[in-house]
Amino acid sequence: MLNPNARPPRGMPVAKERARHTTATLKRIWDYLSRSRYGLVAVVLLAIAGTGAGLAAPYLLGTAIDRFILERDREGLLRLCMILASIYVFNGVAGWLQAHLMAGISQRTVRSLRDDLFARLQKLPVRFFDRTPLGDLMSRATNDIENVSTTLNQSFIQIMTSMVTLVGSLILMLTLNVWLTLVSIVTIPLVTLATKAISARTRQHFADQQRSLGELNGFIQETLARQKAIKVLRRERPSIERFGAMNRELRAAGTKAQTLSGLFGPVMNVFGHLNFILIAAIGGWMAFREWTTVGMIVSFLNYSKQFSGPINELANQYNMIQAGVAGAERVFEIADTATEHEDEAAVGGLDRVQGRVAFEGVSFGYRPDKQTLRDVTFAAEPGQLIALVGPTGAGKTTIINLLTRFYELDEGRITIDGKDIRAIDKNELRSRLGIVLQDAYTFSDTVRENIRYGRLDATDEEVVAAAKLANADGFIRRLPHGYDSPLAAEGGNLSQGQRQLLTIARAILADPAILILDEATSSVDTRTELHIQQAMAALMRGRTSFVIAHRLNTIKSADLILVIDGGRIIERGTHDELLGQQGFYARLYNSQFAQPAG
Ligand code: ADP
Repeated sequence: MLNPNARPPRGMPVAKERARHTTATLKRIWDYLSRSRYGLVAVVLLAIAGTGAGLAAPYLLGTAIDRFILERDREGLLRLCMILASIYVFNGVAGWLQAHLMAGISQRTVRSLRDDLFARLQKLPVRFFDRTPLGDLMSRATNDIENVSTTLNQSFIQIMTSMVTLVGSLILMLTLNVWLTLVSIVTIPLVTLATKAISARTRQHFADQQRSLGELNGFIQETLARQKAIKVLRRERPSIERFGAMNRELRAAGTKAQTLSGLFGPVMNVFGHLNFILIAAIGGWMAFREWTTVGMIVSFLNYSKQFSGPINELANQYNMIQAGVAGAERVFEIADTATEHEDEAAVGGLDRVQGRVAFEGVSFGYRPDKQTLRDVTFAAEPGQLIALVGPTGAGKTTIINLLTRFYELDEGRITIDGKDIRAIDKNELRSRLGIVLQDAYTFSDTVRENIRYGRLDATDEEVVAAAKLANADGFIRRLPHGYDSPLAAEGGNLSQGQRQLLTIARAILADPAILILDEATSSVDTRTELHIQQAMAALMRGRTSFVIAHRLNTIKSADLILVIDGGRIIERGTHDELLGQQGFYARLYNSQFAQPAG
């Protein structure tokens, strides 16, 4: 593949890759986590203090039996109970503090992760969005990040307390009785083996589950965004059926992941109980022989329970972490995709732009195996109107896509005032280009702000002036709240013509040296049509303009018409010159434009 950012296609199992990356992913999560390192240190200290205090309990219990209960010492027993109670209170408070701190830390961590992901998504090249469904990206930005958050919140504390308990009870058990300790340890290799066997499978299933969820979200997003098309084509039933199939797949993956991870607890319990029985039997036999006291056996049984608890817990957490790691990997996958600015070599700004645009032998293909543009060469002088005409799929939009650097050309070069556009910072370049597309885009903001997107530092007066020039002032004032009326994200509450007038006002405000217009093919009423024509004429005055032309007026007044077919410029000239040639343009004109514009 030509594209250096290429990743494995979606839907392909990448389990091996995931497994290999677990350590690297954990390290990257740690990079985020370690920004709250003081909080983490506090959590660790609290875990040691709280759990450490809790570790004294079984020992005190044994002492209570041997020294106070068997000796019938009531006062001593009462004192010991008080101490035990304070230990448990301390343990509880420490636990609550840990949870409180950890909630803050994990939320801060995923906030940074979310910020970084969103910022990265804003800077990815258009190509990336060509091949990645939006819903899948949504899923990564929400579900996957949520998984990371849950894992951080639960696992970190659990792991800390488990480690402290494990080490602490091991030491205490050794001091109590070395032989019984050895008996307790016998089951550890078994536990480790079982953990490995189960978690290898759960990791795979968690990854499958997240991938299925991403696909499902992609489909939901797609169907919601295309509701009109779905209704017109009566795709409701097929959509529901396809959703059902995807949903079944998600259920299958989810069930597998959950059942397998649910297997952990019971399996670990079996080992724990096995351990308990062994120690009770051997310890009981030792007590019979009076090699040790009953209280010591009780203490030891408690420690061995405390000891096997964390082993099960660690195994369980290891499994939990798989879900978090699978989520984090999907997030980092985006973070690792190169932004469209990363490949910029030495870039510079642009001084005052005159507006001379030249294409020199430009060739380009969306895919390496198919050329979409071939050897396109032309020059537009400052202030000229260049009309691009040609059948659908000829490559007109592609020419615009290259000028805006939504895609990078393969051969040749494009210059503005003689400067190669690859040597110009993309933001700088786009700030000099005004773009008015067929699907006029609006954002969920007020009408006023929507126009101001053209130039953020414009005053309210300038916004209104631009709207007037664009013939938009009239209809805006008739809206319920005038310039303060809110717009839906897709501009649903405005007509198509009105939306176009808004984007023209936006472009007028931006005052770019070079204009790119995609004339609407769909018909609007004659009055709006006239408004749009006037507004476009006002906008194009004194600027180099490229228009994907569908209107007779535009092509007649163009300084240069480029006739495009099959990715090549096949004819060029003014309207009259081209008609005189009696070639492709003349035929196209007679079939498309001679009738009233449609
Ligand atoms: P026009 O604007 O003249 O109708 P385009 O420039 O949009 O044509 O498209 C030219 C060719 O490139 C068409 O064959 C189209 O299918 C293909 N094409 C357009 N956009 C993409 C894309 N993002 N990925 C792959 N092929 C594309």
